[in-house]
Amino acid sequence: ASAALDTLAGWLASARHVAVLTGAGMSTESGIPDFRSYQGRYTQNASLADVLSIDYFLHNPAAFWEAFKEIFELKLTGDKQPNAGHRFLAWLAAQGKTVSVLTQNIDGLHQRAGSEQVVEVHGTLQQALCPACGRMHDLAHVLAEPLPRCLSCHTALKPDVVLYGEAVHRFDEALTHTLAADVLLVLGSSLEVGPINLLPLEAQRHGIRCALINLDATRMDRCFDLILRAPIGQTAQALQARLEGSR
Ligand code: NAD
Repeated sequence: ASAALDTLAGWLASARHVAVLTGAGMSTESGIPDFRSYQGRYTQNASLADVLSIDYFLHNPAAFWEAFKEIFELKLTGDKQPNAGHRFLAWLAAQGKTVSVLTQNIDGLHQRAGSEQVVEVHGTLQQALCPACGRMHDLAHVLAEPLPRCLSCHTALKPDVVLYGEAVHRFDEALTHTLAADVLLVLGSSLEVGPINLLPLEAQRHGIRCALINLDATRMDRCFDLILRAPIGQTAQALQARLEGSR
């Protein structure tokens, strides 16, 4: 593992542009469970993909919102804090590198850690939009009522999150950042969810170095030149120490 860490640190040291694709595993060390944990904990009968789907929302918005708030433990106070992994990415950008964070997460922790270039391909928990008139509403309004409604036209609001059955946001932008990068680093994703899981495949096809830090094997492991099966936080700290040492 130490040799792989040295190699990855070397790639990052010489890269001008690093694209980083992150998933739910990025935030588990901040106390936010990833999806496999939700599966066991929340839904005994219906699958998570059924509950968090656009169909369920359209047919039963009140039940959808009740489940959505429970699954994501929605609270007004941002009690979850960025961890060492989030902070490492902000630090890397502060060293003068272009760091494009392409995240499947909806928790906003990359921005809270100080990353400036963040593409939220699955949207954000911080707001909800009116499907009828497009007006955005903040989290405080969403939490005030069991079934939050638009302040302009009274339509049931939808979280500004990509539900199962909906198209991802900003995929072209995520792909452009990936193909412009010298290194693609994937952190904490099972790479089960499409089309985002195609980014490593595209990067590999274009000869871009691909590295993965993930506890479990993923279905896209063959796309990576280097894989570290280790927790993100301590790995990020080890990388930062090497990069600081090599300056
Ligand atoms: P996933 O739950 O399918 O997979 C998470 C992966 O991260 C697993 O393979 C696991 O081995 C790994 N992992 C967990 N903790 C880790 C750690 N500390 N260090 C290294 N690896 C770790 O997540 P996914 O691929 O992002 O897909 C799930 C979907 O659920 C996404 O679309 C995302 O939008 C959504 N989601 C978001 C959040 C969030 O915003 N924090 C949380 C749960 C789910």
